[in-house]
Amino acid sequence: MKRYSAFAIAREAARYHTGWERAWASPEPRARYDVIIVGAGGHGLATAYYLGKTFGITNVAVIEKGWLGGGNTGRNTTIIRSNYLQDPSAAIYEKARSLYETLSQDLNYNVMFSPRGVLMLAQTHHEMRGYQRTAHANALQGVATEFISPERVKEIVPIIRLDGPRYPVLGGLWQARGGTARHDAVAWGYARACSDMGMHIIQGCAVTGVRSEGGRVTGVETSRGAIGCDKLGIVVAGHSGELAGMAGFRLPIESVGLQALVSEPVKPCMDIVVMANTVHGYMSQSDKGEMVIGGGTDGFNSYTQRGSFQHIEETVRALIETFPMISRLKMLRQWGGIVDITGDRSPILSKTPLEGCFINCGWGTGGFKAIPGSGWGFAELMAKGRSPLTDAFSLDRFREGRFIDESVAAGVAH
Ligand SMILES: Cc1cc2nc3c(=O)[nH]c(=O)nc-3n(C[C@H](O)[C@H](O)[C@H](O)COP(=O)(O)OP(=O)(O)OC[C@H]3O[C@@H](n4cnc5c(N)ncnc54)[C@H](O)[C@@H]3O)c2cc1C
Repeated sequence: MKRYSAFAIAREAARYHTGWERAWASPEPRARYDVIIVGAGGHGLATAYYLGKTFGITNVAVIEKGWLGGGNTGRNTTIIRSNYLQDPSAAIYEKARSLYETLSQDLNYNVMFSPRGVLMLAQTHHEMRGYQRTAHANALQGVATEFISPERVKEIVPIIRLDGPRYPVLGGLWQARGGTARHDAVAWGYARACSDMGMHIIQGCAVTGVRSEGGRVTGVETSRGAIGCDKLGIVVAGHSGELAGMAGFRLPIESVGLQALVSEPVKPCMDIVVMANTVHGYMSQSDKGEMVIGGGTDGFNSYTQRGSFQHIEETVRALIETFPMISRLKMLRQWGGIVDITGDRSPILSKTPLEGCFINCGWGTGGFKAIPGSGWGFAELMAKGRSPLTDAFSLDRFREGRFIDESVAAGVAH
């Protein structure tokens, strides 16, 4: 594929933009591939990309029932951070965060990574102790975070109200190189790079069954016919339980609705991401000026990709306590996705009881930030049978009681 560059923009401007190529091909499925990935969200596409780039495996198909990036990857609020408590989590999220730093150059696609800083407010003494502990853990893990005072919080976010009616701001966990990226661009950039390596991205093709012989995967059944493979990666977020059922095993996972909303655009007023987990809401400002707002998960399981009015009200009420100046903003759009949540709030990247079949799921409310690291580790696991990045996240941990408890760092919506 032709490289995107300033020169290419100038050339196309001169010929009325008639020479741009399609960003990725839409081929007919082959009868067989070395690897099939189910799900063209960020995690599935990143897995395919690193399979090709790092391990030279390019006879790969990524099969998507809708359109690529149309699941949670295109519906999230794009927060990127790696300030997790447990070592395996910090390792994979920090790997992802550091890959985001150069992702635009690596993919030759502008993913608009903006390391503007992420601030998690401490609004109870319990939360303050928790974040101080995380800051100490991060120092040992080599993740750059610090616990900052309320005065410093006010300096960084002038529009914040420190003495809220219910919970005053007692400090915050600050990660200066956390931030945001353009979610669609992450999916599109990986898709373009995969297509460039000759991989097949097959959209509008639902996987309806998993084929196996003698306890080993042999392929999938799809709405466009059967397709064979040597290895299968299931990367379908909220639909993981369904796909695992097709492959003959059960997952310790729940599917829950999570929603977000944006306001009308306003002039720049906040240049970082703020998360207020006690009152439960978080906010950043997009390049267009909209305030991007996220709230909590629904309290019940479902597969509907929309949110409830009750959550909009709760989230907006919580944020108005912290940022009274948004009280007169009009809300523009609201949407939802289906997230996949495990008991310890950590993901699953694992072999499965079906030989040759691997699963990557359980990213819950916070997997966008992990896409490059998850893709990297899962590709290594699929290619080599193990990866130091994913070892701790195997399915065995639920049987053996080796939980990676991230309920403080990850049990909120972000
Ligand atoms: C409102 C909201 C806000 C969020 N905010 C953040 C945030 O700020 N930061 C953060 O890090 N994370 C956030 N997340 C979480 C993040 O979006 C997800 O963890 C991440 O996008 C999961 O990516 P994925 O590739 O695993 O799944 P998805 O992007 O959902 O992709 C899975 C794909 O599998 C496809 N699929 C399903 N079943 C089949 C089938 N049978 N056959 C073929 N294809 C199938 C789906 O169509 C889908 O495209 C948020 C999520 C939501 C919903």
